[in-house]
Amino acid sequence: MKDIIIIGRGPAGLSAALYARRAGMTTTVIGLDNGSLEKAEKIENYFGLERPLSGRELIMVGIEQAKRLGAELITDEVTDVQWDGDFTVTAKNSVYRAQAVILTTGAPRKKLKIKGITEFEGKGVSYCAVCDAFFYRQKPVAVIGSGEYALHEASELLHTCSSVTLFTNGSPLTASFPDTVRIIETPIAEIYGEEKVGGVRLTAGAEIPVAGVFVAIGTAAATDFARKLGVEISGNSIVVDEKMRTNVPGLFAAGDCIGGVLQVSVAVGEGAKAALSAIEFVRKKAKS
Ligand SMILES: Cc1cc2nc3c(=O)[nH]c(=O)nc-3n(C[C@H](O)[C@H](O)[C@H](O)COP(=O)(O)OP(=O)(O)OC[C@H]3O[C@@H](n4cnc5c(N)ncnc54)[C@H](O)[C@@H]3O)c2cc1C
Repeated sequence: MKDIIIIGRGPAGLSAALYARRAGMTTTVIGLDNGSLEKAEKIENYFGLERPLSGRELIMVGIEQAKRLGAELITDEVTDVQWDGDFTVTAKNSVYRAQAVILTTGAPRKKLKIKGITEFEGKGVSYCAVCDAFFYRQKPVAVIGSGEYALHEASELLHTCSSVTLFTNGSPLTASFPDTVRIIETPIAEIYGEEKVGGVRLTAGAEIPVAGVFVAIGTAAATDFARKLGVEISGNSIVVDEKMRTNVPGLFAAGDCIGGVLQVSVAVGEGAKAALSAIEFVRKKAKS
């Protein structure tokens, strides 16, 4: 059991790791890649830079600094976070436990633009298999996605639903799905139905009747984890208080995933605040 797990190794996550480690917390940072900074050609508006650095150079300095202070850095993709008093963080290659979790997974993903998705939210369109699978027991369902996150959601639904069809919506498969999942790669034209979802219509015209559609595009984002944990979300951002606390005890968020000013300096400051709150939480828990 770790004291603190940080999901994301951008400026917010690495900054949080520095504070957590310097307070003596056992700290694991799980990140898939270098985040937004990988795409930034030149950073010159961050404090303390003698010369402009590329985003990659800046992130590599942060990674070395976090490692030097004793943070454990793991490259992996997190697909699920559950809470039972402590947190279970499921990644592609391993499962981790921690007393506190800080979400720093970066800018929220743009909403999927498929006709019917927004209209049927809560009426058959879901973003959380573990929360909603029960409502579709012994019924056919669809998952939209093509990677590890879609695989995680499909695997969850296979336990409860009569069938699971994966719609990649034209994207190539990037995970290995069991034979029990039917795979359709043709792009989707719309989610159809009357009061509730009736099925998925493909651009080629075919209709595949399903009772529920689970959206699991790309990599799971902070808002996906937040939805599963009952965390308040506003628009596409996680809601936190001034101490970066979410409404779930022990769960904190910082950086681009909470919205506001999307800049390195802001992410670093919020990461520090989230870590200080997480440290306080772990210490109080130890005393109780
Ligand atoms: C092209 C470009 C140029 C920019 N230029 C500037 C600039 O000049 N100055 C400036 O201040 N800011 C700039 N920014 C903005 C800046 O990069 C972001 O504000 C900052 O990186 C946000 O930090 P973050 O830690 O919140 O998220 P990110 O840096 O995006 O890091 C997110 C982390 O979460 C990880 N992650 C996401 N999902 C998962 C998952 N399911 N499992 C595991 N890991 C996951 C990612 O792999 C990554 O490690 C620029 C951004 C871009 C795209």
